[in-house]
Amino acid sequence: MSQDCLLLNGNGKPISYFPLSVVDWKTAIKLVVTRNVIIVREHPDWFVHSPSMKLKVPSIIMLRKYYKYTNHVKFSRSNVFLRDMFTCQYCKEVFQRKELTIDHIIPKSKGGGSSWENVVTACKECNIAKADKSLDPSPVAIKPSYKALLKGQNSQIEYKDDMWREYIVA
Ligand SMILES: [Zn+2]
Repeated sequence: MSQDCLLLNGNGKPISYFPLSVVDWKTAIKLVVTRNVIIVREHPDWFVHSPSMKLKVPSIIMLRKYYKYTNHVKFSRSNVFLRDMFTCQYCKEVFQRKELTIDHIIPKSKGGGSSWENVVTACKECNIAKADKSLDPSPVAIKPSYKALLKGQNSQIEYKDDMWREYIVA
């Protein structure tokens, strides 16, 4: 069984084909729980248990919103959240979109600008804790290329799960 989950944009198509937009199943579950995505298909007999619930592991998920992501990636709040997969770059937790903020690595007050290289996704708590200090988030902020999105590594479409086929019409 594939450990990866196919990630579709809000229009029901993969965000990218080369590489195919996928996330690992643990991230997929966090994205579902934080309501950033809805489940399109799930594995019929693969469950994970937490103390409070039993969940079927998703095989295909879809973003609740359509994110415009093209070869020329527009710098926007939404696309920064997408680049960082709704994950606070300081505490590494996945959050609901409304709980997320844009953090300037070099604060605006110290001349830091709004650019791919100087902003990261941060939860409110980390953003407040950081305030005007310059802290380094763990990954380096970069402008994502179309290909770099979602860390896909394969240059060919790989159907890791048969369920994916009808959603991938390249
Ligand atoms: Zn945080």
